[in-house]
Amino acid sequence: MELRTDLVEDLMGRFPDVPREAVIKEDLLRGGLAFDDTALTDNENGDVKPKSYFIFSFDHRTLPELGTAALRRPPEEIVLTGGPYELRRTVVSVRINPDSPYRVAADDDGRLKLFLDGREIADVGLPPMPEYYRHTLANGKQVMEVAPTIQWGYLIYLTAYRLCQYFGATEECQYCDINHNYRQHKAAGRPYTGVKPVDEVLEALEIINKYDTARASTAYTLTGGSITRKVDGLAEADFYGRYAQAIEERFPGRWIGKVVAQALPREDVQRFKDYGIQIYHPNYEVWDKYLFELYCPGKERYVGREEWHRRILDSAEIFGPRNVIPNFVAGVEMAEPFGFKTVSEAIDSTAEGLQYFMSRGITPRFTTWCPEPTTPLGKTNPHGAPLEYHVRLLQTYRQVMEANGLTSPPGYGPPGPGRAVFSVSSFMDSLPPKDDI
Ligand code: SF4
Repeated sequence: MELRTDLVEDLMGRFPDVPREAVIKEDLLRGGLAFDDTALTDNENGDVKPKSYFIFSFDHRTLPELGTAALRRPPEEIVLTGGPYELRRTVVSVRINPDSPYRVAADDDGRLKLFLDGREIADVGLPPMPEYYRHTLANGKQVMEVAPTIQWGYLIYLTAYRLCQYFGATEECQYCDINHNYRQHKAAGRPYTGVKPVDEVLEALEIINKYDTARASTAYTLTGGSITRKVDGLAEADFYGRYAQAIEERFPGRWIGKVVAQALPREDVQRFKDYGIQIYHPNYEVWDKYLFELYCPGKERYVGREEWHRRILDSAEIFGPRNVIPNFVAGVEMAEPFGFKTVSEAIDSTAEGLQYFMSRGITPRFTTWCPEPTTPLGKTNPHGAPLEYHVRLLQTYRQVMEANGLTSPPGYGPPGPGRAVFSVSSFMDSLPPKDDI
């Protein structure tokens, strides 16, 4: 049987313009990694920042199947350096898979290393517990629960609504475990607030603002499930917008405000802007028409693909095209049984979508698909998409971006290998460095 090392090194050789760091990072994100028990955290009482489960599970097993990692959380992220591939500093979000050929463990001298197929390939750094995680809200809630930070502290991730009103097999996106993740944390007795009160969010931000003396936190993302009816008596734009309004009133301009929401009608998008949001993410998920209809049945039924795209273009007139950054889930194009059968077909389709938006000045970005086991696509594709797809996507993304005269989107920290902090795909690791971030 071919070792994963052979696959990784073959792709590094065939695609020398894709940084080696990005090849390893994509492989870790699509397939997960295992942790020795000794490399797990001591949760909120330790010196390492634990995984917050900020929206989805992003694991390859359910919580009860994670063993010790369900009791002692893994770290939120790791940072890789050195090793035989001479990796520059690479921040990777942690997605647990006990069966992965990648394993984090201590070497004979007690230093943490990343092993692939049993061979040491990188030094592993862990995120220190931020001072603001050591303080609680007046009601005892953890800052990690209300306002976790990711991307090595750059982004405050505010999942204001931890459920989605697209519910069940006929509405939920076929790769998404938001509703299951909520249920599994509740079942485990963990604090996991369905709707975060605005006051709690402000209190948690107050703590972050006070103790983040290095001012590493630069942006916040407001997000959560889609709202097709109402939550707290509010429709989607006003529900998410009210948090931005309160944050901007209390901390004017302290962070870059972003919202991940549905592609809403023009008036609603204007409200986001009026509430103080600077960057809008109306995620289009997957470009291909047939796959969008199949994978996003709720979005297709309530809005429809063409209308979704039209609204993305409309929103560029309100926010400016640079500040409209729709996401897609990289890899689901190749999910069996309905996805593309070859990497080339999948890349061609994805490139068509990139060109559609980038030719209009809009820069999409992507997260690397994690085939979570409770989702329909995760069940039928436990290994995710081929690594070659992810590597070629990085190459294509950069090519289409450069052909359209665009550079890395705002609000993602620095681009470039050795500098990027965006942790759930390596698109920022694969772009040229620039200083004006
Ligand atoms: S709209 Fe789809 S991807 Fe977004 S939270 Fe709902 S089910 Fe998940």
